[in-house]
Order: sequence, then C-alpha cells, then structure tokens
Amino acid sequence: MFIRRLELWLAATNTYVVAREAGGPAVVIDAPPDCLDPLTGLMAAHDLTPTALLLTHGHVDHLGGAGNFTARTGVTAYLHPDDDYLARRPEDQLRILMGTVPPGDYRPPETYRHLSDGMPLPLAGLRLEVLATPGHTPGHCCFYSSEEAILFSGDQLFAGSIGRTDLPGGDYETLMTSMKEKVLPLDDEVTVMPGHGPSTTVGRERCSNPFLVGV
Ligand SMILES: [Zn+2]
Ligand SMILES: [Zn+2]
Repeated sequence: MFIRRLELWLAATNTYVVAREAGGPAVVIDAPPDCLDPLTGLMAAHDLTPTALLLTHGHVDHLGGAGNFTARTGVTAYLHPDDDYLARRPEDQLRILMGTVPPGDYRPPETYRHLSDGMPLPLAGLRLEVLATPGHTPGHCCFYSSEEAILFSGDQLFAGSIGRTDLPGGDYETLMTSMKEKVLPLDDEVTVMPGHGPSTTVGRERCSNPFLVGV
C-alpha cells in the first residue's frame, strides 16, 4: 500500500494520500485548510489521481480545505451526516478555537456522500471500511483496512492520547464506548495512523496509553 502523510495548517493536522501503488488512483483522508497545493503536488510527484476525499469528522482543521479541494479536483467528499452541522460552520469553530477567523478559504464541499458504520469503501482499489466512532464529534469515523491492518483513526486515538471531548458536540463517555466497541477489539498489530502526530499500533496504545490502560 502507498501511504504518504502531510502535516498541514496551524493545528498540524495529518492528511493522508493512500493508494495501492504509485501511478494509479488515490484516496485522500482529511483536508486541512490550505491543503490543495501540497496535496496536488504530492500526487503529481507520484503520478496519482485523486478519486475520493474521506473526512474523519467535521472539525475545521480536518475539513477546512475540503471545499476548495473538491471544487478544484472534482472528487467526491464523504462525511458522516451527524457532522454536517459542524461542516457548515467553519467560522464558528475558528472563533471558538482561536478567538478569531484567520484569512482563508474554509468553505465545505457543496455535496457529500454520507458515511455510515460498517459501510465498505471500495475506492481506488482499496478495501477500506467505515468504523463510526462518535465521541470527539457526533459523526466522527475511522477508516479501517483489515487487509493491510491499518486504522486511520482521525481524532479518536493518538499515540499516547485520545481526542479531546470538551468542544461542542464532544462527549467523553461516548468516545470511550467507541474505543471499547470499535478500536480496542482490533488486533495488537494494527497500525494506527492518527489525525495528529506520529503513527502507533493498537497494541502499543493498549499497553501504554494512559487513557486506555485498564479499559
Ligand atoms: Zn477534531
Ligand atoms: Zn484534529
């Protein structure tokens, strides 16, 4: 599997370009503000053609570049409908997070396909599956490849931490229920590629993540 990570924007958000191999179709996971040029540059360098944009959730640091990216590339965006309300209010989110709206283009995509739990995503020759993991936001989703043993975990799980639940729509109990029902049942060997920071594995987090020990 071809996977490249770019860390973008003020929140150092990870965006991933995923394909079977260079020189073919690719899927993009999350679109931080100002992601268009870095993403299209990376894909051009590896002769990749974007076919879909998968959004883990509606926070502006993951979705703020999605409208511009989809308008310019023509790809379809995918988001869980429970985060529609967040996607439509990027400026409100920025005011809550930063107290201001930095100049930029944060508009959401005009249309989405709606993600749902267990939905298969046969895109770009990949076999990703949607794991709905509410808690960080109501519509948060992870994307899982059992074939490759990789979980794109968004802001559900990080190396050594978990997603914050103090923002509007967040709920700690719900996030931990998602962890128990969707993430922790995965094998220890599964690689976790989070929405911020370095990759890890389910096994490493099970043993050493202070939020998960004893869960
Ligand atoms: Zn988030
Ligand atoms: Zn984030």
